[in-house]
Amino acid sequence: MQNLMPKIISLAKRRGFIFPSSEIYGGFGSCYDFGPLGVEMKNNIKKAWWDEMTKNQENIVGLDAAILMSPKVWQASGHLTAGFADELVECKSCHKRFRTDEIGRGRASASCPECGGELTEPRKFNLMMRTFVGPVENEAALTYLRAETCQGIYMNYENVLNSMRLKIPFGMAQIGKVFRNEITTKNFVFRIREFEQMEMEWFCRPKEAEKYFDFWKKERLNWYLNLGLKKENLREREVSEKELPHYSIRTVDIEYKFPFGWGELEAINNRGDWDLSNHSKCSGKDLRYVDEEKKKKYFLYIVETSGGIDRVFLALLCDAYQEIKGGRTKTTKPTKEVEILLKLDKRIAPIKVAVLPLVRNKPKIVKKAREVYQLLKPHFFCQYDELGSIGRRYRRQDEIATIFCLTVDFESLKQEDLTIRYRDTMKQERVKIKDLPWHIKKLMCGI
Ligand code: ATP
Repeated sequence: MQNLMPKIISLAKRRGFIFPSSEIYGGFGSCYDFGPLGVEMKNNIKKAWWDEMTKNQENIVGLDAAILMSPKVWQASGHLTAGFADELVECKSCHKRFRTDEIGRGRASASCPECGGELTEPRKFNLMMRTFVGPVENEAALTYLRAETCQGIYMNYENVLNSMRLKIPFGMAQIGKVFRNEITTKNFVFRIREFEQMEMEWFCRPKEAEKYFDFWKKERLNWYLNLGLKKENLREREVSEKELPHYSIRTVDIEYKFPFGWGELEAINNRGDWDLSNHSKCSGKDLRYVDEEKKKKYFLYIVETSGGIDRVFLALLCDAYQEIKGGRTKTTKPTKEVEILLKLDKRIAPIKVAVLPLVRNKPKIVKKAREVYQLLKPHFFCQYDELGSIGRRYRRQDEIATIFCLTVDFESLKQEDLTIRYRDTMKQERVKIKDLPWHIKKLMCGI
């Protein structure tokens, strides 16, 4: 669809999904706030991932580690050295900075894409965000906001292994905020400085790492397909040796075809023994695994699935967005207006049920609709809406992906039933009010 990004950005703001941070002060360095519908949708994405990893898999456990860690962690992980740095050039006239990989690496003659000015020689720029812990702001108090959640997992490898009595292979999963001082931020929430990751670290025997790499690559791609992303908009990309992150033996990116081009949603990494062996060396703590079966002591390999929630959020919005010229209603005369339909998966949609009294000037209908709302509220995320014509309210709900609209009308007062309207088919049918919780639950679970 042409100009999809501006449409997505506009919908996100208009309907309370995503707002620019600190907007009344002109925004702030590519940070975004998730609004009332955005936070619901984000929580739904996280829940889908968390359930998939920790509930549906037998041997993966969860963790929630602190954002702040000893700076020694980042020294050992390689993030403070050139390993976690982007190569930059600066324009000598307008002083804007660009990543060399974005403007064409190695093109000596490349000029500033903004003003055509002369560019400096490339230099490395570290992405770690610095902060100080305690009252004195000196080097001794310096630490970093985490740039990936997985380091918290490695720090707790032994604690979890011992407290949970795990046997290999096993996994540890974590969701959390991370920070990167990105040079160029663009494409809405695709590249931001504060974002959320969902990472799973799979600890296994070195010889089995390749096998599990293939297993997780397949699982993760299926997860995205299962969430409803279109197959033709997803692909795997083998990352070349030259581009490999400093910790990786092999990386395959799962990419989505965004309106601005293919972009990474998640990386599957074979991190080998990089993390455990380096942390052993730097901390002096032996993190080798005692393999009773093989009668050996060695470092486990780690296969990692590392996804970004904000990017998945954006991909889901782009994939679900549809415009219908003249509207979908065939029973009334088509108008020229364009209707928006957001066809999000039922697990992801922020609002599951909208309760709508047919009219708002009949107290008995309003009262009945409020009763229905109270009945369903404990079970599903519901919205009560009585403003505007019923057609307009349906369209407002379609635009934010609400799965079911329930309309309470005059018949409802006599027959204790109402009309349920399904978002995707617009099919309508009567359902007894007392059956609603179970009826909707069945539809939500696909039973
Ligand atoms: P890119 O190549 O796009 O900079 P990356 O290879 O540095 O990404 P990873 O370090 O593999 O990213 O991080 C894992 C996941 O975290 C990515 O697949 C992505 O979904 C997410 N992510 C990384 N950087 C950002 C960012 N600046 N904004 C939003 N999400 C991000």
